Amino acid sequence: MFPALLPTYNRTDIAFVRGEGSWLFAEDGKRYLDFGAGIAVNAFGHANPRLVAALTEQAGKLWHTSNLYRVPGQESLAKKLVANSFADTVFFTNSGAEAAELAFKMARRYQFVSGHPERYQIISFEGAFHGRTLATIAATGNEKYLEGFGPKVAGFDQVPLGDLDALNKAIGPQTAALIIEPLQGEGGVRSVPPEFLRALRKICDDKGLLLIFDEIQTGIGRTAKLFAYEWLGIAPDIMCLAKAIGGGFPLGALLATAEAAKGMTIGTHGTTYGGNPLAMAVGNEALDMVLAPGFLEHVAKTANYLSQQLGALVAGHPAIFESVRGQGLMLGLKMKIPNTDFINAARAAGLIVLPAGENVVRLLPPLTLTEDEAREGVALLGQAATALEAQKAAAQ
Ligand SMILES: *Cc1c(COP(=O)(O)O)cnc(C)c1O
Repeated sequence: MFPALLPTYNRTDIAFVRGEGSWLFAEDGKRYLDFGAGIAVNAFGHANPRLVAALTEQAGKLWHTSNLYRVPGQESLAKKLVANSFADTVFFTNSGAEAAELAFKMARRYQFVSGHPERYQIISFEGAFHGRTLATIAATGNEKYLEGFGPKVAGFDQVPLGDLDALNKAIGPQTAALIIEPLQGEGGVRSVPPEFLRALRKICDDKGLLLIFDEIQTGIGRTAKLFAYEWLGIAPDIMCLAKAIGGGFPLGALLATAEAAKGMTIGTHGTTYGGNPLAMAVGNEALDMVLAPGFLEHVAKTANYLSQQLGALVAGHPAIFESVRGQGLMLGLKMKIPNTDFINAARAAGLIVLPAGENVVRLLPPLTLTEDEAREGVALLGQAATALEAQKAAAQ
């Protein structure tokens, strides 16, 4: 019989029923330390009391009105995002892919109203991940995601990450914008040289293109700055956010300069749910927490500690790990054994970690992780490595 639940996921046979801070509890009562945070979403841990209070208080008042009316929570959250970023304006979505879709529409529309209707091409970079809608799989460029879904949406091209010559060759009279993750997530926690990102800024300025940063995974404190672009000394024209911005409530956002957004006049875009009062109650509270004095310093300190400990772990298990990569609390372990084998062993030891491209095990703990929890997580990674070494030795 065909499964009642569409089988597009190869799910692990485990159901979590409760969470508390950095910990998850499964149906059978087993406790897990969560270094996956629902794929960088639960940045404030599970059942964060402030987020629970914000959501439940709003839930007793008003859930949804649509965007035909003013939504005060959107106005306050947009103001805060604008005050703390390069952007002048914000649009709220329900997901990351929707934010990326709007980024593409906005870039094309910008060129259109600037007298360049011929400029529609969006260039992305190999190893990217921008979502699973038709346009975002075209930008993602992964053949596995494109196969069988008909002709790739027109106007999307991809070049190797870090290759300026290839990029300059790909840019033509039809190019509208470039999109890049300042640190690739799904692609394998692959960092992008800062000088490459700064070169993209210059190319966009010189050629009248828009620079789009997909900060859906890197944004909202993950790299120990509010946004990863802040490390670079440059800013994009358009930025996509999602994941941590809602702390677990579905929420995304597109941020843009007034110039980039100038084509988005009344009627050019819409959403029924995006930015609804429930999402805004949580989003406002979440952003207040990240912006509170000391929060990002805590992320930086924990990240520093964790990456040092991981360095020692890698050195102690040379047959299992190759290296540590990443920035802030977006870290990766490049593996010498299949990452999925290690993820299973870590789970058996009581630790949740995630896969990523290039055979990397991705660590995305809540930003509220304590140093004790970081130490415990590294100990569990060590247990998993030891168990796999013992298995390997027994097989020989
Ligand atoms: C998760 C992710 C997306 C897609 O977000 P959805 O909410 O799943 O649509 C896009 N870009 C990046 C960098 C992501 O990490």
